[in-house]
Amino acid sequence: MLIANWNKTTGWGAPSIVPYAPLALDPASSVLHYATECFEGMKAYRNKRTGKVCIFRPELNARRMNKSCDRVSLPTFDETEFVKLVQKFTAVEKRYLAWQGEVEMTETDDSDFLYLRPMMIGTSARLGVTPPNDAMFLIIASRLQSYNSKPLRLLAPSPEEAVRAWPGGFGNAKVGGNYGPTMKIQTEAAKMGYDQILWLFDAKRRLVTEAGAANFFVVWTTPKGTTEIVTCPLTEGIVLEGVTRQSVLDLARERLAGPSFNVVEREFSIDEIVKAADEGRLIEAFACGTAYFIAPVELLGYEGRQIEIPLKMGTSGFYAQTIRRWLEEIMYGETEHQWAVTV
Ligand code: PMP
Repeated sequence: MLIANWNKTTGWGAPSIVPYAPLALDPASSVLHYATECFEGMKAYRNKRTGKVCIFRPELNARRMNKSCDRVSLPTFDETEFVKLVQKFTAVEKRYLAWQGEVEMTETDDSDFLYLRPMMIGTSARLGVTPPNDAMFLIIASRLQSYNSKPLRLLAPSPEEAVRAWPGGFGNAKVGGNYGPTMKIQTEAAKMGYDQILWLFDAKRRLVTEAGAANFFVVWTTPKGTTEIVTCPLTEGIVLEGVTRQSVLDLARERLAGPSFNVVEREFSIDEIVKAADEGRLIEAFACGTAYFIAPVELLGYEGRQIEIPLKMGTSGFYAQTIRRWLEEIMYGETEHQWAVTV
């Protein structure tokens, strides 16, 4: 694991990469009481042509982590230094990514990736609700097999019952406090046969925000007859600014947008989805994130109704499948692209 310590007076200390081990923390540490904590999720991929290892758009994770740090009074940092640390750490751990010559590469593990988890915690030992004077930055990694999951079934509880985030809150920061409180309703939904929660906001407007810990997109035909791919905007601060979300928008704007295809970030309600489904205008929906990647959605549970979402390509809609493929080509180096940063 990589560790760097910070102190309010002396600033950032030199980082080091040390064997993975438990941390010794004072029980009065800020993080254990006031959740002065934030984290990131990134993946490292082995380029299929060259064998080199790449990370995907790390500067976006650096920027988001700085914003998260600022939100919970943790120290901010130089974003280029963050990217360098992730590169250095990945270079050490890349031995776990299968490649001919180093590790036998088989049919099933040729798309292995390393999941990287940068994180920061407030370590000041002081029982008082004040910004920590000491903090620790860490990166750990976990080796994961890529999997082709089944399409998702989402449950949309009413906003009177459950909301994930609210304007002026911290839903747009990747802080631990956003995740613990979601597990209870997620477990209840799982007992009912759903994979994730579709988070709505505002009892009146019933805005669709995110799916589980991922962003959410819908593709539909508008009443005017154009095709539209839509996701919740970042303006109210109620969704996380996903790296995958941004990449989907960027690729859709570059490669799909045209006179009859619109790419939009705007508020939309679950009632619009229901109406589109009833009128046969709903084309597809998918969740997206570093961990989920592009996950097609096949069903929405809402107010006792089960809304089926088309899966034109069998286990995916056409747009989810196409965008997923474009992203894979970049991540695994099948096409040269500036988003894949070599370590
Ligand atoms: N929303 C939430 C709440 C998340 O935790 C994540 C995962 N980081 C995302 C969206 C997707 O973000 P990304 O594409 O950067 O992984």
